[in-house]
Amino acid sequence: MRQSDFNNRVDQVQFMGQILECKCDNCKYSKKDIYLGYGMVPGIFYFPALDLHSKKVIYIDIIDLAEVVERRHLTIISAKVNKQQGDGKIPYFVKGMFKKGLIKDIPISSSPLYLQRKNNYCPKCGKYRLAFAEIGLFD
Ligand SMILES: [Zn+2]
Repeated sequence: MRQSDFNNRVDQVQFMGQILECKCDNCKYSKKDIYLGYGMVPGIFYFPALDLHSKKVIYIDIIDLAEVVERRHLTIISAKVNKQQGDGKIPYFVKGMFKKGLIKDIPISSSPLYLQRKNNYCPKCGKYRLAFAEIGLFD
């Protein structure tokens, strides 16, 4: 595999609207229809998040939390993420929402809008046993 093939794949994954589901293999919590990526409405970018109030996985618009610094290079504005967290909504790319382990698969979404498939924080049981999986696309 050439390096360019790998990069193309990452870009494609990151900039497509995907429908995800999540499942915890500890407490069996699950949720379907979580959106990731650009929606039909311009200027919206959905990303999975934890809602502390309802203790559920939701998706939120994070377009204001990230800034395009170069072509296709995003940087996260930490002050805005902090405000979002103050409102009880924590996107899954935030440190502490996932546990880095022996993960060899390509993440669903690459850094800085990082989303890994396994070892994510479960809102119900509080263990890092939540897995995300792609179940479809939207546009
Ligand atoms: Zn759980």
